[in-house]
Amino acid sequence: MFVKVETLNKMFEGTYNGTPVIRNGKCHDCGCELTIVIKRTTGGFRLQGGALYEPQMGRFSFKCEACFHINENLNDTDNNIPLEIELSASI
Ligand SMILES: [Zn+2]
Repeated sequence: MFVKVETLNKMFEGTYNGTPVIRNGKCHDCGCELTIVIKRTTGGFRLQGGALYEPQMGRFSFKCEACFHINENLNDTDNNIPLEIELSASI
């Protein structure tokens, strides 16, 4: 499932207002290297550069935007998409 809002809140603990959180990883589907920039917005969070999943507490998976547009779910059985997260195509 997508990374939880509580997890994102924790990532932002101790950061200055407006400072983005950056996570590097490999795409779950195609294996490409990607950098996800997470910013706080008034409505929640904005993820740029890809999608971030948290299949288990504290464990993250990534998807690049190309793979995300093919299949938004990390696994076929997973259709849990929180509305608080919006994905931006720009980086
Ligand atoms: Zn990919």
